[in-house]
Amino acid sequence: METSSYNPFQVAQSQFDKVAALLELDEGVRALLREPMREYQFTIPVRMDDGRVEVFKGFRVQHNDARGPAKGGIRFHPMETIDTVRALAMWMTWKCAVVDIPLGGGKGGVICDPHHLSQHEQERICRGWVRQIARNVGPLSDVPAPDVMTNGQHMLWMLDEYEMISGEHYPGFITGKPVGMGGSLGRTEATGFGVIYVLREALKVLGLSPEKTTASVQGFGNVAQHAVQLYTQLGGTVVAVSCWDQADKTSYTFRRKSGVNLEELRAISDKFGGIDKNRARDLGYEQLPGEAWLEQDVDILIPAALENQINRGNVQKLSKRVKIIAEGANGPTTPEADEVLRQRNIFVLPDFLTNAGGVTCSYFEQVQCNTNYFWEKEEVLKRLDSKMTSAFSAVHDLACRQKLYMREAAYVIAISRVAQAVRLRGWA
Ligand code: NAD
Repeated sequence: METSSYNPFQVAQSQFDKVAALLELDEGVRALLREPMREYQFTIPVRMDDGRVEVFKGFRVQHNDARGPAKGGIRFHPMETIDTVRALAMWMTWKCAVVDIPLGGGKGGVICDPHHLSQHEQERICRGWVRQIARNVGPLSDVPAPDVMTNGQHMLWMLDEYEMISGEHYPGFITGKPVGMGGSLGRTEATGFGVIYVLREALKVLGLSPEKTTASVQGFGNVAQHAVQLYTQLGGTVVAVSCWDQADKTSYTFRRKSGVNLEELRAISDKFGGIDKNRARDLGYEQLPGEAWLEQDVDILIPAALENQINRGNVQKLSKRVKIIAEGANGPTTPEADEVLRQRNIFVLPDFLTNAGGVTCSYFEQVQCNTNYFWEKEEVLKRLDSKMTSAFSAVHDLACRQKLYMREAAYVIAISRVAQAVRLRGWA
């Protein structure tokens, strides 16, 4: 897989530059929006279980907060780089704007591999991250959330450390907390379900009923599993899922042409979304190379793992049958591959619209924390569906009206909103 030859921040900037030109943005606005407003890089010394001190590298980037406090996840990943965090922070700004929630964009990370860390070591990394950045984040300035390889427990350790430092309760400091500890019902499902709310609307536009479609999914983590869940509930058939195999240090695709069984696969997967290949084989799944997920003869592809997964090297391998790509992951398509998809007239549902369900529900979590009143799950999901559906409609209407590619239309809406906020504040 081609994962490292693209600098995601350059990709994010080049996407921005194109739309800035289309919108004829002023030089000042352009210069401000193509860079993060603030970024922090720091060391986190951690006492390991064996008594050694290991020093981890931490990041927090606040791309833009003109529309509200910066918002974005914290990733634990061995290959994390400042440029990945910058790109993701910028995409968060556009994501919050395209679904029209009053938040800006941020992102954070730690270079580490939780596969090789005990729970206690991970707790000390979380607390160390907060100690280093507490003065630069907060419920009214920058609100973190879980992301790749972090979860509600990590958020709660971070919240606890923040509250220890400040001496008061600030449940709105962080989102993605466990339910009962300030978390929102529906948050776990929100991103994956959001992907499918958008996909459902796209299918309507194309006149396709979900029951008559098939899909192939990259990833079997939080986003992918919930996307598979709702898509299957709507009647769709997922024929393949792919995931990373930690033991073999490679990825595999697991295929069952009659349709994968979510519960069965969940039962044989670990908490990182890795499927046990031996048990999958025993259950009758074909084991194919990692990249095979995108070569399947399906109507829909759902990349829900990592960035740069559909690229120049493999885009030609897509089946002619593929009509929709619902980008669950952030930045799964490189610019060259995107051009090929556009020319092939594939209905691409762009990442920052399609996977905005998570941040939308995080916003609902903040609202619930601020009012100290928590909604039923049905209410959360109903509001989420409504937000995602209206965001899709706005983007699709603009795309039709101005004959734009969906990604362009989403950018035009998001960037216009942020540019307007920056102008109204008198920043540029
Ligand atoms: P996760 O850690 O729960 O799952 C990641 C999955 O990807 C795992 O199944 C893993 O095995 C698989 N994977 C990793 N490398 C792979 C490879 N080379 N080939 C195939 N599969 C591979 O992560 P997640 O929370 O599901 O996030 C997935 C993507 O969605 C990321 O791009 C993330 O930034 C994005 N995203 C997540 C959320 C959220 O709420 N969790 C919100 C918005 C966007």
